[in-house]
Amino acid sequence: MSNVPVAVVTGSNKGIGFAIVRALCKQFPGDVYLTARDPGRGQEAVAKLQEEGLHALFHQLDIDDLQSIRALRDFLKEKYGGLNVLVNNAGIAFKVRDTTPFAIQAEVTLKTNFFGTRNVCTELLPLVKPYGKVVNVSSMVSSSALGGCSRELQQKFRSDTITEDELVELMTKFVEDTKKSVHEKEGWPNTAYGVSKIGVTVLSRIQARMLNEKRKGDHILLNACCPGWVRTDMAGPKATKSPDEGAETPVYLALLPSDADGPHGQFLSNKTVRTW
Ligand code: NAP
Repeated sequence: MSNVPVAVVTGSNKGIGFAIVRALCKQFPGDVYLTARDPGRGQEAVAKLQEEGLHALFHQLDIDDLQSIRALRDFLKEKYGGLNVLVNNAGIAFKVRDTTPFAIQAEVTLKTNFFGTRNVCTELLPLVKPYGKVVNVSSMVSSSALGGCSRELQQKFRSDTITEDELVELMTKFVEDTKKSVHEKEGWPNTAYGVSKIGVTVLSRIQARMLNEKRKGDHILLNACCPGWVRTDMAGPKATKSPDEGAETPVYLALLPSDADGPHGQFLSNKTVRTW
């Protein structure tokens, strides 16, 4: 078993995830895994970094596929006995002009952004070693979508006692409400991506609390963040930040020094803690 520190970035064959891997290859003192659901696209991305003189390793990971997540888990357990840095970056967004029915957009978006990210956390968080860092890439849209929720929902999503099961129930209810076309009446905002990212931010708050309760002595720091508005296939060419600039806050959180006792359980943008 290798004693080398190891970092894993989900959805990193392109966009912000790719830029996070690039930065970690330069700054992280250990093995950096670029992961992708499609091995061809993943290997191509590794080769692109190689041309820049950077050495990333590759492992397949489709966060929609529990078997794929568990294969990565078993690999990390066997080869490294765990992992040191996990960046949950993989995500999807329908284009504004997409005419796919809203209920389908809700189901598909929540499946990857919330349920997929949660499944990765369920399988990989127990493997995170003491002084490890976990970064969940959410979005400022989670904050604006929270503002668009009913007072009752806002209270639940801001609660310091909400459980992971209760959050899962709420995310499931959103998808069901869209199918019945009652989501607005039930207090939800009209954004599937926004609700999925509320899920990611609130999940991060809950997971940080659980780490405090169950693994306090392990000094693991877990946060959610927004990369900013970044020029990728998701956000388009008019966005204000380059992918490398978008990677800055996630990488800052991934590389917090071992003597740092925070941030933890926070939502950050531009390396600054934001009020939730
Ligand atoms: P992107 O260029 O579209 O890249 C998304 C990445 O996620 C791709 O590598 C994609 O792989 C991967 N992915 C999607 N579904 C996956 C799955 N089921 N399993 C594994 N990988 C999967 O988007 P981006 O702009 O870099 O976004 C990265 C993260 O930042 C997302 O979580 C996004 O919500 C968040 N974010 C972006 C912005 C922005 O302005 N760009 C702003 C706020 C937050 P494929 O190539 O196979 O599709």
